[in-house]
Parts: sequence; structure tokens; C-alpha cells
Amino acid sequence: SRERLERAQRIANMGSWEIGSETQEFVCSPEMARLFGASPDAMACASPESFLDRVSDTDRETVKTMRQVAEREGAPYQLTFKIVRFDGAVRTVHEQASPVLDSAGRQIAIEGITQDITDKVEAEKRISRLARYDTLTGLPNRAFFDKLAGPALERARRTNTSCALVYLDVDRFKSVNDAMGHKEGDIVLVTLAERLLAAVRASDSRPGSGHMASESVAARVGANAFTLLLAGIDDEALVSAVAERLMESVSLPMATSGGELVLTASIGIAMFPRDAADTRGLARCAEQAVHAAKSSGRSQYRFFDEAMNERASMRLIQETELRRGIADGQLRLHYQPKVDARSGAIVGAEALVRWQHPRQGLVPPDQFIALAEESGQILALTDWVLETACTDLRRWTDAGLPVVPVSVNLASPSFACDTLPVQLTELIERHGLLANSLLLEVTESLLMSDVERVVDRLAALRAIGFRVSLDDFGTGYSSLSYLKRFPIDELKIDRAFVTDIWRGGRDGAIAASIIALGREFGLRVVAEGVETSRQAEHLVSLGCYCQQGFLFARPMPAEDLAALLASNSASGAAAQTTGR
Ligand code: C2E
Ligand code: CA
Ligand code: CA
Repeated sequence: SRERLERAQRIANMGSWEIGSETQEFVCSPEMARLFGASPDAMACASPESFLDRVSDTDRETVKTMRQVAEREGAPYQLTFKIVRFDGAVRTVHEQASPVLDSAGRQIAIEGITQDITDKVEAEKRISRLARYDTLTGLPNRAFFDKLAGPALERARRTNTSCALVYLDVDRFKSVNDAMGHKEGDIVLVTLAERLLAAVRASDSRPGSGHMASESVAARVGANAFTLLLAGIDDEALVSAVAERLMESVSLPMATSGGELVLTASIGIAMFPRDAADTRGLARCAEQAVHAAKSSGRSQYRFFDEAMNERASMRLIQETELRRGIADGQLRLHYQPKVDARSGAIVGAEALVRWQHPRQGLVPPDQFIALAEESGQILALTDWVLETACTDLRRWTDAGLPVVPVSVNLASPSFACDTLPVQLTELIERHGLLANSLLLEVTESLLMSDVERVVDRLAALRAIGFRVSLDDFGTGYSSLSYLKRFPIDELKIDRAFVTDIWRGGRDGAIAASIIALGREFGLRVVAEGVETSRQAEHLVSLGCYCQQGFLFARPMPAEDLAALLASNSASGAAAQTTGR
């Protein structure tokens, strides 16, 4: 049983010992000797003192006192302390000791067990570090930031000073990740974190800052979002200066494997105690402010104000209303014909959604598409549009109308959705339509994200038979040479380049080169927003025959389009769209 005990002690890293009350004789288990790294020689002359000597300087007095009290008064104890082993290694041990009584109840010894808990302590430290710090940048995470900020706010409250909570969001970071991959994106984030820390330190050591400024904290609170608490800062002008320095430090060029990268950041600022009474509240205000900075063009900073609060609650109301609107059938689908400008024949139609709001009347899409995207409702909206367009197509076909292909706008989240090809295939089969009865309009910005994936997705959709149109062309960033790589069928020249096309000039030149380029790549080019016959004629002279705009027709309800189709002069030109 002794062997078993020794084995158990070895496994538990635990030694046992006993000190005789009268004799002061020290007896310990072999494992205790191992725990202290004691050689057989050292063991031979082991005494309570020689072991006490191994206790670290800071803990020795406490251990000694506890043992004395145990000896004198029979009081048990438990204690965690550090030891310096006979071989020099520093370890953390946990010790429990209690008196040993004889049959008459007299204390004859104290016995104890001592366990090496260094690994456990280290592991706990690691775990608590993981729970408090962001592993990538080493900065505190959101939860720990709240903890750290608490005392600074408390002190500011007591001393009647202010703090600023700065929320910094790196603009368009997703496209960095998409373009360079996550590994490189991570390196960029680490560099940014270092720069922010340096900027905060610089602000702490600004002239005139009190000792409290050293409490400033930086944290990473989102993939590309950081918060900073600037303590003991009363002057908004100083906060502005810090915000500007932060923006500057973010925008310093960064060398990456893909060349030089220049980023920008948007910043929202909330002041304590003016805007909110605690860290959570401040963070909410600063986030609203950063939202405002982003929607007015990014790369700027904004202080929180009450109006933002009102706007935020307005948004929430609209979001809820839109959700209900989609579910309750308040969406309407209108169609705008695409015509051959030479003959006036309808060659297609674009489906454009509207919202029949119970109080506001017919709301145009510009006022709710962005809201739908931001509040995660765009997939439901797209589903409804696709379903409705296919239902209309089916009805027109059944009525014997010469049907034309219908263009549907796909927002990026819809296009990126993995199930899209399957969903679309199921949809047209269910309605008994051919894939080429739908034209999927995607925007240029979408092509800027993960190019490989986009190309694969486009190819997959086209392999099934769907055609793809690149909407608002010319407004985004894609270089013309990019275009070659994307398997698409149609280009839509944005209205911006059509308006003044007859005047020549820069816009006219862009439109002309888009038309030429489209011809080169074998794409159909459609001009959008054609309002005058002068524009239409000029476009025709450049070889752009397919046009869409108020000159020919405004977006209209499905019945009106059906009536137009019935009298469409070029019914022979209409594509065959039905499989039945
Ligand atoms: P878009 O895809 O560029 O659609 C063309 C917009 O130009 C339509 O505005 C149309 O009414 C307008 N338009 C057409 N011809 C003329 C013209 O001659 N002059 C002028 N000034 N405007 C003209 P609408 O219907 O208000 O749609 C605005 C935007 O909302 C669309 O721009 C599209 O980006 C988005 N949208 C509309 N329906 C949907 C949808 O079902 N899903 C998604 N994701 N977006 C949609
Ligand atoms: Ca469109
Ligand atoms: Ca467009």
C-alpha cells in the first residue's frame, strides 16, 4: 500500500511530510524530496528549516508563521506559495497541513501534503489570458476592455473629469481580406494594432496630461474594429487631435506582398459622462457615431450627438416595418422595358421592386434596399422578387403573350449565397421556365471581392443557362482589363454616362469606349436612363441599340407590361423562355 501511495503521489505531483511536535523530527515521502529537487545528500540532513529555506523570500515568513500557529494551537492551514527548488527551479506549490493527535487527544505532530501546482497555475493563466485578450493582436478583447475601463470611469466620476471612448473601424477591410487572403489580412491587423497602441501612448504622454492618462486602454472589439478609452481628457479639441492622429497612423502606407497598401479608418467618439454613464452605453454611442462617419463617406471622425440616437431608433422602426412588410405582402414588382431603339420593339424587361408602405405610399427601392442589406433581409427580399418574376413570366406565357427575358437585380449577399445555383434551378423548373428567361443583374462592386470565387460562381450559373448582366457599369472600380476574366453576357452603361452623351466630353468618351469594349468582348451593351431622343440617337450612332429609360417607358405594374407585350411589334424577336 505504501508503493501505491508513492505512485499516487508521483502522479499528483504531491509529497507528504510530518514534523514531530517534541522531536522536531522531519519525515517526508520520496515524492516530497523530488518535488523540492532534493538530492539524496540533501535529504539525509533534511530538517524543517532546510525546507523552509527553499520557500521564496516573499512567502517564507507567512509559511513559517502558519506552521508555528499549527504547532502551538493545532490550527490547520492551506497555503499557496512559491519555492526555489534545491536545483534552482522556481515552482508554485499548494500546501495543506493539520495536527496529528494521539489517543489521549494530545498533539504529537503536524502532517502536511504539498502539491506542485505550477502547471495548473500556468494553464489557468493561459486560459484567463485567452478569455481576456485577442489572440491575434494581443490587445484586450471587448469583455476585458469593459472591465479595464470601469475603474477609469469611476475615477473620472470622483474627480469630475471626462473620458473619451473612441471607436475605430477600418474602412473596407473585407476587401483587403478578400484580395490578399486572411493570412496577410491578419498581418495588416497586427500592424494596425501596434500603430494604435503607439498613438495612444503618445496621447498619454501629451503635455499637461495628468497621471490618470496612463489608464488609457486599447482593445480589439471586432474583426476590424478597435476601441480606445482616453482617460482624463476634458477638452474635445484634444480628443479631435487624437482622432486625427489615429486616422493618420492607420493611413500610413503598409508594405504587403501584393504591394503598398493604404487604408483609411472611420472613427466615432462618445464622451463620459456627457453621452453615457457606463462603458456599454459609451460604446453604443460611439458605434452610432462611427456609423454616421461611415455613411457620410468614411475616413472621418464624428462625435456622438442625440440626433444619432433618434436616427438609430428610426432605423430600428424601419427595419421592423420592412420585415413585416415583406412578410405581409407589401412588396410590389414593377417592370421597365428594354427596347431596341431602332425599332422600338421590347427585347427585355427589368424587374424593379417597390414597397407599398401602409402610411408612406409607394416607396422607391433606393430607400429600403440598403436597409434590407444591412438588416439581413435582402435574401428574403430577393427570394420574393425571383418568385414573383417567375410567377409573372409563367402567367404571361400561359396567356400566350410573346414573353421577353426578365432581368432581376441580385445584391451581393444573394449572389454570394452558396445555394443560389440550386435555388434558381429549382425555381425555374417549378415554374416550367427555361434558365435563359432570367437575366441576373450584378454590380461591379461585387466583382471586386474574391475574384476566383466570383468567376466560378458566374461560370456555374451560365453553365445552367442563366445569363448575367453587369449593372451600373463604369461607376465602380474595376479596371476594364478585369472585364475579360468575367464570364458575363451583358453590360449596362450607368445613367451617369448617358445623360450628357450627346455633348461628347468625358462622359461621352467613357460611354463610347464601354460600347466599343463590349463589342470587342462580344457582350450586349445596354444604355440605362435614356430620357431624350437625342441621347437615344447618339447611342445608336455608337452602335448601342438596346436601351432602357423614361424615353421609352417608366417602370410599370405587371399588367401594364403584359398589355405592352401583347402589342409588341417584334414578337418574333422575343426569346423563347418556356420549357412547357
Ligand atoms: P438600377 O438597377 O440601376 O435600376 C434602374 C433605376 O433607374 C430604376 O430606379 C429605374 O426606375 C431608374 N430609371 C430607369 N430609366 C430612367 C430614366 O430614364 N431616368 C431616370 N432618372 N431614372 C431611370 P428604381 O426602380 O428606383 O431602382 C433603383 C435601384 O434600386 C435599382 O437601380 C437597383 O439598384 C435597386 N433595386 C431595384 N429593385 C431591386 C431588387 O429587386 N433587388 C435589388 N437588390 N435591388 C433592386
Ligand atoms: Ca439593375
Ligand atoms: Ca443600373
